[in-house]
Amino acid sequence: MAKKSIRDFDPAGKRCLVRVDFNVPLTEKDGVMVITDATRIEETLPTLKYLIAKGAKVILCSHLGRPKGQVDPKQSLRPVAAALSDLLGVPVGFSETSTGPEAEAMAKALPDGGVLLLENVRFHAGEEKNEVELSKQFAALAEIFVNDAFGSAHRAHSSTAGVAAFLPGVSGLLMEKELTYMHDELQNPDRPFVVILGGAKVSDKIGVINALLEKADTVIIGGGMAYTFRKLVQGIGIGKSLYKPEWEPIAEAALVKARERGVKFLIPVDAVITDSFDFGTMQVGEIRITGQGESIPDGWEGVDIGPESVKLFSGEIAKAKTVLWNGPMGVFEIKACAKGTFEIAEAIAANTSAKTIIGGGDSVKAVKMAGVGDQMTFISTGGGASLELLEGKELPGVAAIADK
Ligand code: AMP
Repeated sequence: MAKKSIRDFDPAGKRCLVRVDFNVPLTEKDGVMVITDATRIEETLPTLKYLIAKGAKVILCSHLGRPKGQVDPKQSLRPVAAALSDLLGVPVGFSETSTGPEAEAMAKALPDGGVLLLENVRFHAGEEKNEVELSKQFAALAEIFVNDAFGSAHRAHSSTAGVAAFLPGVSGLLMEKELTYMHDELQNPDRPFVVILGGAKVSDKIGVINALLEKADTVIIGGGMAYTFRKLVQGIGIGKSLYKPEWEPIAEAALVKARERGVKFLIPVDAVITDSFDFGTMQVGEIRITGQGESIPDGWEGVDIGPESVKLFSGEIAKAKTVLWNGPMGVFEIKACAKGTFEIAEAIAANTSAKTIIGGGDSVKAVKMAGVGDQMTFISTGGGASLELLEGKELPGVAAIADK
């Protein structure tokens, strides 16, 4: 994508406003907010260590939760300052406001290599509206804008996009890596390029399916959206599986496109089915596995791909030189419906001669739950941002970064 990164300028002595994604899960313990998973903080460390080592003055900003323009102490970033200080091994200052004279004074007082974390940018109502006045106030804190918040890059907010109208923008190392794997590597992938798409709704994923039909050699469909394709292609009954009549023409158009472009299009041939499942209680009723090509009876629904589908998909994955995966093969949150998703994760991990890219959202959770996360070439940190990038959209937070 040829975007400028922090490696393309000398940050020594420069005040850098670094937009990160510190939207970490918090829980209240004895009246104190405690971070329950610091992964998002850890992911920013390469960028922060690089900037500190180069003598930059690091001013960090992020959103946390959905305070909707109100100051809410339970959604304060203050606990993150302490956690970050421990991880970096340097003091991290904290400003109780993310704009204004106090924040500006603290930013200007930073020594070279110093780190300051600003309070939650979403305490300002203007943040999510991308208000120009707020963007200017963020810009007043610094000389350079560093965007390392890939997970928020699909949002046109003041701290992700608007601020770049008033400061030169570069990417951080996490953002740079995301753009490399989720965009650049997929323009000219090593072939065969096998794309596996799952998840719930055809309508949510059709943009990605269509964009990747332009690039892939094989597209594999699983998850809830597979039943619309199975009904169309195999003519089977799908019981009460996820389906909407309006998804049929969308799916049909994708099948036509695959045929025209000579892309191999694989759908499940069997299914794990149940007579009831409840997301709230995570309970499933009776479970059965259909035979190959067998209809799903009325009153039953498909909740995972069956063993023959796993075999079919795994064979294709084994031949790939590049694999991209987005979306689970079934309701993997429930153990009885997770086997297909985990076996696909394992099949991807087993292909050690391929570049394996996990494209965000629930597939990231799935590879970690399957215990094969460390065997993947790249795991994206973005959910919505990953999908929009894969769809070929220009993300506001990426447009905010200057071209090389
Ligand atoms: P998405 O956010 O579109 O990637 O969808 C992920 C969600 O799809 C997960 O919560 C899965 O439980 C759900 N899902 C996957 N397969 C099915 C299915 N066969 N029926 C219902 N939901 C499914």
